[in-house]
Amino acid sequence: METLTEIKKRVFLFGDKKAEGNSKMKNLLGGKGANLAEMSAIGIPVPPGFTITTEVCTEYNTLGKDIVIDQLKEDVQSAIKAIEKTMGSKFGDAENPLLISVRSGARVSMPGMMDTVLNLGLNDESVLGLVKKTDNERFAWDSYRRFIQMYGGVVLGMKPHTKEDIDPFEEIMEHLKDKRKIELDTEFTIQDLQDLVYDFKDAVKKRTGHDFPTDPWDQLWGAVMAVFDSWNGDRAIYYRKMHNYPSDWGTAVNVQAMVYGNMGTNSGTGVCFTRDAATGENVFNGEYLINAQGEDVVAGVRTPQQITKLGSERWAKLAKVEEADRIEKYPSLEELMPSMYKELNGYQQKLESHYSDMQDMEFTIQDGKLWILQTRTGKRTGAAMVKIAMDFLKEGIIDEKEALLRIEPNKLDELLHPVFDTNALKKAHVLAQGLPASPGAATGQIVFFADEAKKFKNTILTRIETSPEDLEGMNIAKGILTARGGMTSHAAVVARGMGKCCVSGAGALKIDYKNRLLRVNGKEFHEGDWISLNGSTGNIIEGKVATMEPELSGEFGEIMELTDKYRTMDVRTNADTPKDARIARNFGAKGIGLTRTEHMFFEVDRIKAMREMILADTVKGRKHALEELLPMQRSDFEGIFEAMQGLPVTVRLLDPPLHEFVPHQLATQKELAEDMHISLAAVKNKVAELEEFNPMLGHRGCRLGNTYPEITEMQTRAIIEAALNLKEKGILAFPEIMVPLVGTTNEFIEQKKVITATADTVFKERNDSIDYSVGTMIEIPRAALMADKIAEHADFFSFGTNDLTQMTMGYSRDDAGKFLNVYLEKGILTQDPFEVLDQEGVGQLVEMGTQRGRSTKPNLKVGICGEHGGEPSSVEFCHKTGMNYVSCSPFRVPIARLAAAQAAIKAKA
Ligand code: ADP
Ligand code: MG
Ligand code: MG
Repeated sequence: METLTEIKKRVFLFGDKKAEGNSKMKNLLGGKGANLAEMSAIGIPVPPGFTITTEVCTEYNTLGKDIVIDQLKEDVQSAIKAIEKTMGSKFGDAENPLLISVRSGARVSMPGMMDTVLNLGLNDESVLGLVKKTDNERFAWDSYRRFIQMYGGVVLGMKPHTKEDIDPFEEIMEHLKDKRKIELDTEFTIQDLQDLVYDFKDAVKKRTGHDFPTDPWDQLWGAVMAVFDSWNGDRAIYYRKMHNYPSDWGTAVNVQAMVYGNMGTNSGTGVCFTRDAATGENVFNGEYLINAQGEDVVAGVRTPQQITKLGSERWAKLAKVEEADRIEKYPSLEELMPSMYKELNGYQQKLESHYSDMQDMEFTIQDGKLWILQTRTGKRTGAAMVKIAMDFLKEGIIDEKEALLRIEPNKLDELLHPVFDTNALKKAHVLAQGLPASPGAATGQIVFFADEAKKFKNTILTRIETSPEDLEGMNIAKGILTARGGMTSHAAVVARGMGKCCVSGAGALKIDYKNRLLRVNGKEFHEGDWISLNGSTGNIIEGKVATMEPELSGEFGEIMELTDKYRTMDVRTNADTPKDARIARNFGAKGIGLTRTEHMFFEVDRIKAMREMILADTVKGRKHALEELLPMQRSDFEGIFEAMQGLPVTVRLLDPPLHEFVPHQLATQKELAEDMHISLAAVKNKVAELEEFNPMLGHRGCRLGNTYPEITEMQTRAIIEAALNLKEKGILAFPEIMVPLVGTTNEFIEQKKVITATADTVFKERNDSIDYSVGTMIEIPRAALMADKIAEHADFFSFGTNDLTQMTMGYSRDDAGKFLNVYLEKGILTQDPFEVLDQEGVGQLVEMGTQRGRSTKPNLKVGICGEHGGEPSSVEFCHKTGMNYVSCSPFRVPIARLAAAQAAIKAKA
């Protein structure tokens, strides 16, 4: 054990065109560290540094700070020596100090979720050394005040007290700006900056009771541990949950020599993307600020400028800035520093082709020298994801299979959301315009604080700017609107990652948090007022705007066609109405895998007949009521069969417990009694009689059809007659009649008898016939066990994985909420089994049912109709099991088609 821990390599160096790590080592070095190493190795100028591995983070969580520092000390000391050698300066030196940044970096990028400290190593002595060394007093003091600010916030816990408060350091700065009657932090004098340093340190002492640490090594270890701690901070935990990342991954720590974008007008810092992350358009784009450091661009401290001339012109048009003004105040990097731009443009091309994917990069220009500080696969909207994959395919960079694998199935969901109705938009009143940071249509009520995003059903989170603390609220809100910040601001980047509509940097907005008030061009809006955002144009619209369904067009349509080329499993839909059937068909559904007939009985005119049927004491009474229902059911089926013409439609016979259909309120009970000419007491008695202790295990499914065969008779008649009626009109229907909740073979045999007898009767009456089949759901564990016997009689199986999960795990779906969340939090379960199929457990029954069924009927058609049919990992499982199709709700059909194609591609690879 001892020797093992000694052998383990915990620190990896990079810089000076060399590196001990590479981009494949993301699990160990984190995404940022692995890519810093890779860039260094391929000759991109990266400030030298080293990465402490994610394993150390895990050690820190189990062994604690002291042991970890002990284990690391020597490695870190010699790594710092290596940086000193490259940079020609010395960590902790008063004359010629080496300053460093301490940066987090998990294996997947979690922008802003964890913490970074810049300019570490400064103290009252070394700041003077820095002044001398750089001959730039302003820069040195600016760096020092930034360091105290960041270290204070990240390591020493100097955060705002309440959400209405601003950051304690910001408050001090605002105060000084007021006093000095200036607006920008670039206007601070050297004296101001020195005062800020003094006041900041004073604030730290007052709040924490300790002096600000002066020893650089203390500063370093404090920052390293803070980065480890940030892995278990609220923000990071929420982010992990949102994306289902396990908590034991840990974060790496990157320690790197500082380069300075705040050294004057020949310096700057920026963020750029090799393609447009909002639309996917193949244009290099990004933002920068002159004389700025680190997060200044993202935090929206000043209005950022565009990297390219094209981008700058587009921006000016949206921001209503005249060309002369643009050139004077907001020139692009391409115009202002042509040689820097050229070099940067070269690196972005090199990096995109090196990684063959869209990159999101950070850079800093220090006194005319360009440094690249980060590259990663860029987060993008669903639309951009599709366009970029198709463009890479067309550019010959990737092949069809790779293009399909590049699409994240669940992210397609974004493309399936409603868009603004074009007619409604014409009439809309546009209040102001911001930047089209993340496309989409959002209508909602204004809220000003992220933790109030749930206050109304649909909210628009309206902020001056957002910060990583706001993540959860941003996820809940329908749209995000900010007054400050550009296309690379926190709000914009996070919104694109979530695929959430966002308009950023709308300068016309005046937001007053204290009074929960938004002022814009002479109008006032309060919390709860309705506004709408158009994330594709940046328009902010007063009130609500109507929406319409999206279409499978352009690249989205193309990628969907590709899925059909590779998938071997069909995708059907669960649809109970002709409207749903049509939507699903437009999305490429190849039939219906589940039509629930009970939903049809809840409509006003029908529920009455249904209740009469239930309340009838005799077979005759029941048949009478069923006769009333027959024409209604028949016309329902006609509508659905017509919408799905030429494709199979699986119709499930009545499934829910009858108790769900009877009235539970006195007034409706009275009404029913009058209608049926019976006493109220009789109605009440019947309702009480239908009450069950365990309705999910009670009188439902085929138990209804077996106790009241006349129900099955009526439903079969409705199905067969509907198909025959359509046949007369030349429309082909292929009904598959499905018996629910079968547990014993005889239950199925009995129902099948009723169905075939009824169908034969109808065929005789009509002197005509159609093809139909009779199968069953496999949703009771016993049915999976008996599948070989059942398959002797059934034409098809459809796994009802909702009930199957419920009964296999013994979790009532209606009550599981009480413990499932706790189970997920504690890690007792890693996923909600009602969302993601429990492949390990329930999956065994699915496999067994399929195999046993096909052992007696080799060509048995098998599908799935539970919620899982539209969940990508479950779809992959269904493919492996050898199912013929999955069936899911209409809006998940494209997702399932893609998941099915990916499963087929992965299985062949
Ligand atoms: P995040 O993961 O939130 O992006 P980063 O670690 O990338 O955090 O750092 C935050 C900011 O500080 C970025 O703008 C980055 O470019 C900048 N930065 C980090 N390290 C250095 C450095 N050594 N020199 C200059 N700027 C740096
Ligand atoms: Mg970064
Ligand atoms: Mg069921």
